[in-house]
Amino acid sequence: MQPAASVQACLTGDFLAPVFARYPLEVASAHGVWLTNTRGERVLDLYGGHAVAALGYGHPAWTAALAQQAQLCQFQSNAVALAIRARAAQRLVRFAQLPDMRVFFVNSGAEANENALRIALRTSGRTHIAAIEGAFHGRTAALRAKVSRRTAAVIVEPVQGIAGAVDLGREFLGALRSRCDEVGALLIFDEVQCGVGRTGHPFAANLHGIEPDLLTTAKALGNGFPCAALLMSAQLCAQLPVESLGTTFGGGPMACAAIEAVLQAIESQQLLERVRHLGALIRASCVVGPVCAHQGVGLLVGLRTTRPARQVQAELLECGILAGTASDSHVLRLLPPFILEDEHVELLRDALRELPP
Ligand code: PLP
Repeated sequence: MQPAASVQACLTGDFLAPVFARYPLEVASAHGVWLTNTRGERVLDLYGGHAVAALGYGHPAWTAALAQQAQLCQFQSNAVALAIRARAAQRLVRFAQLPDMRVFFVNSGAEANENALRIALRTSGRTHIAAIEGAFHGRTAALRAKVSRRTAAVIVEPVQGIAGAVDLGREFLGALRSRCDEVGALLIFDEVQCGVGRTGHPFAANLHGIEPDLLTTAKALGNGFPCAALLMSAQLCAQLPVESLGTTFGGGPMACAAIEAVLQAIESQQLLERVRHLGALIRASCVVGPVCAHQGVGLLVGLRTTRPARQVQAELLECGILAGTASDSHVLRLLPPFILEDEHVELLRDALRELPP
């Protein structure tokens, strides 16, 4: 029997707004670092659901934490105290090694950034925000012109993701911190993509030894359960009246259970060490075939390609390996789960070796 037209449309995805470019891949299930498509074929996931699946798929402790919390209490808002929320915040601050920070949980990276900017504008009484983009990299002289006494805050991704895994580096970020201090502007680190262990350090702030006034993070934080966090200095927090920030779902118990499980797993499975090791292994072994150089930190890897990266990406997918691209058309971006193993890097190396240079 033929399904009714509307059901057919639903099955084929016709009711979804076609606003995303899609990979030619329909995922039916996933386990560890492997996706299985609807034809039953396995694909090695070096994209991690856009840097989200830090623990890979079906991680037992993460799955159990969510199931347990769902049974205990699936939701209460911030109007009600919850032990799981308090624990998640404490664990995040300890993990970040930024003991003077306070946490506001929200739902997405964009929401965390919006709140960071709102706090900066509100507490400074200034109206100007500076955002550091790719072109700024290394141009410390330009900072003086762009960051002034009018500037409420500077927002920067210390290791840029979409730009193609670009580490802005300790020198540049240190100069930025100094300039912000000089003019009384707040420094916001957007660690939505590069945070929660992806660099092999809790945050890029730790990697580079620079403390921002506000830090936003998301993606890997929930391993796929939607959540994000805004960390702010206790001094800034003290200036915020009660009810000055709002969210319905942020800090919900399911999200907090996911956050607690993620941070616990990163620590107990020594995943930061693994991220550093695997990042180094990819850099040492995968500059082969169409890859001519590498950039980035830890498992936020940019592989520079001699040909358009989209071509290489499509060829890798034919070999059963999913990689990402970047706004730089000649960078293949890898954001794999932290549980990746050496043998998976060897699969990538061997596949790249077989591709035309
Ligand atoms: N900041 C950075 C650096 C990101 O990479 C992204 C998303 O890719 C965002 C913010 C927005 O995060 P979200 O999609 O969770 O709102």
